[in-house]
Amino acid sequence: MTTYEPVIGLEVHAQLLTKTKAFCSCSTRFGAEPNSQTCPTCLGLPGALPVLNRHAVELAIRAGLSVDCTVRQTSRFARKNYFYPDLPKGYQISQFDEPICENGKLDLMMGEGDGAYVRHVRIQRMHMEEDAGKNLHDRGSDSIVDLNRSGTPLIETVTEPDLRSAAEAGEYLRSLRDIFVFANVNDGNLEEGSFRCDANVSIRPVGVEKFGTRVELKNINSFRFVEKAIIAEIKRQEECMRTGERIVQETRGWNDATGTTFSLRSKEEAQDYRYFPEPDLPPLVVSPAQIEAVRATLPERPRDKRSRYVTSMGITAYAAGVLTGHPKIAAFFEAAVAAGADAQKASNFIQAEVLRDVTTKGVEAEIPLSAAQLVELLGLVESGAVSGKQAKEIYAALRGTGQSAKAVVAALGLEQMSDEGALEAIVRKTIDGNPKQAEQLRGGKVGLMGFFVGQAMKETGGSANPAMLNGVIKRLLSIT
Ligand code: ADP
Ligand code: MG
Ligand code: ZN
Repeated sequence: MTTYEPVIGLEVHAQLLTKTKAFCSCSTRFGAEPNSQTCPTCLGLPGALPVLNRHAVELAIRAGLSVDCTVRQTSRFARKNYFYPDLPKGYQISQFDEPICENGKLDLMMGEGDGAYVRHVRIQRMHMEEDAGKNLHDRGSDSIVDLNRSGTPLIETVTEPDLRSAAEAGEYLRSLRDIFVFANVNDGNLEEGSFRCDANVSIRPVGVEKFGTRVELKNINSFRFVEKAIIAEIKRQEECMRTGERIVQETRGWNDATGTTFSLRSKEEAQDYRYFPEPDLPPLVVSPAQIEAVRATLPERPRDKRSRYVTSMGITAYAAGVLTGHPKIAAFFEAAVAAGADAQKASNFIQAEVLRDVTTKGVEAEIPLSAAQLVELLGLVESGAVSGKQAKEIYAALRGTGQSAKAVVAALGLEQMSDEGALEAIVRKTIDGNPKQAEQLRGGKVGLMGFFVGQAMKETGGSANPAMLNGVIKRLLSIT
């Protein structure tokens, strides 16, 4: 029986994080009243002229450099002509044969242990274009066209057909989103449609070089669904091969209820877009100096961050993954370490306490305390002023208040007892009260250490400095 190898190429549309649209000054804010963010240009009224958004260009360059693309010094906008209700101009301004970025790459770390391998994915091109509007069908008996999204700047990133499994496609999408979010070019929000993917899938008999006929899977709005759709599509194509049915080049959608892909339109029906250079915009020229200026502000890539956390900060790969789950969390952690916190202790405390109170929205995050407050709090534990357990209590009272950790300690009366004389008095009292146990401990029954620590802790309401307390007990009972 012939075995087949899947061949996959991905096209990702990502919204650039500009405040205003690509060719007019309308807001790009999501969720506004339909058609409240429009003007003659993005409504496509005759005679309205596009003016290119400088910030969109900068972000497109940034996105390209973040995946090692070459940035073209001269690129060109083109009209892609088609009719659809959400496209009032009858064409979309895009880039065709001269995209702003090309020839990038993204290496994927796949598998684990002996099965680990690197998949090298070539990025063919990354071009700028404007988004279309949105048809809303959830308004009772009416459908409306909302043009708020019309003219929002996008970059489309197109890979070579280098991926070989659904898992690789999923990993590529997660990595690319991660890179874009950390580079602050896209908010990675799949639910709001600001990061969307089309997957091209074909199969070929193992050992055969020539690619098979590809099917394009469109409009799939979660990474999990993309992977499921690719797996189902590969299976369908294998079935076609076995039964001798011809695989036709077409666009298919995903039905999650049935777990199958279904035909949306065949390539025979697909239109010729009649691309031609956009006459209302001059060629886009960027200087090498501009490109280098953008490169100079590129942040560390999330993957490099993770390996740096592991190799030079000594935290686990798991923790590094958690801390780089969002750029603002990574920045918070790094700020705490830069201000003197121990990396491991900061990492542990953030994971155990802080993260459950963090809310993220796109590239923004609300963290309930500042790095300085965290550093101060960890410092109090470090110096023995408060115990680890008390630190949690202090954090709970401190979050969201902006107060200093010391002020909260004083307010809660949580000062850890580090007065050696006072501790000594308490330990003496417990020894006097438990002469039998004291004798046994003195005689070598070290398990009783915990008993005395516990008794003294009870006396101090849990506030005794544990290290100091241990020392006092040992000293008074002459244990070495
Ligand atoms: P189009 O402009 O019609 O979308 P492209 O040639 O630009 O076509 O290809 C789009 C995507 O399809 C690219 O990501 C590319 O890697 C992928 N692709 C091309 N041929 C195949 C194939 N035979 N199997 C799987 N993917 C393919
Ligand atoms: Mg395509
Ligand atoms: Zn507008």
